[in-house]
Amino acid sequence: MTELEIVEACRNLGRPGFRGKQIYAWVQQKAVGGWAEMRNLSNEDQRLFHEAFIWQPLRLIKAQTSLDGTRKYLFQLADGERIECVLMAYDRLTARDRRTVCLSTQVGCPIGCVFCATGQEGFKRNLSVGEIVAQVLEITRLMRLEDRDFKATNVVFMGMGEPLLNYDAVLAAIRILNSRDGQDIGRRRMTVSTSGIAPRIVDLARDDDQVGLAVSLHVADNATRDRLVPVNRRYPLETLLEACREYTRRTNRRITFEVALIAGESSARAARQMAELLRGQLAHVNLIPVNPAPGLDLRRPDQREISAFAGVLSAAGIPVSLREEKGTDIDAACGQLRRRWEEA
Ligand code: SF4
Repeated sequence: MTELEIVEACRNLGRPGFRGKQIYAWVQQKAVGGWAEMRNLSNEDQRLFHEAFIWQPLRLIKAQTSLDGTRKYLFQLADGERIECVLMAYDRLTARDRRTVCLSTQVGCPIGCVFCATGQEGFKRNLSVGEIVAQVLEITRLMRLEDRDFKATNVVFMGMGEPLLNYDAVLAAIRILNSRDGQDIGRRRMTVSTSGIAPRIVDLARDDDQVGLAVSLHVADNATRDRLVPVNRRYPLETLLEACREYTRRTNRRITFEVALIAGESSARAARQMAELLRGQLAHVNLIPVNPAPGLDLRRPDQREISAFAGVLSAAGIPVSLREEKGTDIDAACGQLRRRWEEA
C-alpha cells in the first residue's frame, strides 16, 4: 500500500491519519518485521491494525553469500511459490555507496530465453506490488541484523520474470520505493530491464521518464533473435528499435542494451550488424559473457572474441562495457536465477 492508502485506511478505522504515516515509516524506513515492533503504537492500536490489515512478509528459505559478497535469497510467498532476489555488494571502497537489489517481478517467466535458467521453468504468475516491494524490505531487515545503517541505494528489475509483462505492479512498486517517507530510492537509481515488449517501452516513456531502461538485445538479426529470445517473433527488431527511438525521443535518456556473448553466436560479423542496428540510437552496450547454468549447454566466447566484439562496437562510436561478474559461484549472476533450492 502507498502511504496515502494506509492513511485513508486508518481514518476508515476511526484512527487519525498520522497513524498511517507512522505505520508507513515503520514498514518502509525501519523495515520492521511485525506490529509489535511499532513502539509508538499503543497495544490497542497494534491489535486493531493486526486484525484490519493483511501483512504477509516474505519467508526466508535460504540465503547464500558469494565469494565476492553478492548475496542470493530464496523467499517463499504466502501461496507457497518461491522467488529469488540478489543483493549485489561491491568492493569495500564503494560498498557503502552502492547496494543494488535485483528484484523478481514474476514467479517464473513466460519469455523462455534459451540462455536463461528461469525461462526454462515456465511461468506461474505475476507478483503483486507488495511482493515486489517486500523483497527490498526483507533484504533491508535481514541486512540490518548485521549493519544497522544498511540501506538499498539502487534497484534493478532484472531478477525472475519480464517486468514489462507485469507493468502496473512494477510501476506502482517504483513509486512506493521512490517515496520520500519510505525507502526514498531515486528513480534514476532504478532500472527496468526488458526482453523487448515494444508497446510497453513506449508506455514507460510516457508514465515514468526518470527510471532507467535496459533492453536485452543480444543479437541484431531477427532469425537468431527469434531463436534466442522467442518474444522477438512478436516484436521483431524493427518494432523494438522503433519503440526504443520513441523512448529516447520522449525521455532524452540513453538506453542500455544488454548483449549476452555466446560462443558461436557473437562473431565480429554479428558485432557489425549490431553497430548498424544501433546507429543513431542513444545507446550504451553492456556485454555479458553468458554464464554457466545447470542444464544449459552454452559456452562463453574466448577472451579474443569478446575483445573483437567490443572493438567493433567501440569503433562505431557506441559506448561499450563488459559487465563485472557477480555471484557466479552461487548461481546468482544474470540468467542463473531459478527456484533450484526448492528441495533444499
Ligand atoms: S532472461 Fe529475463 S525475460 Fe528472458 S526468460 Fe530469463 S527472466 Fe525471462
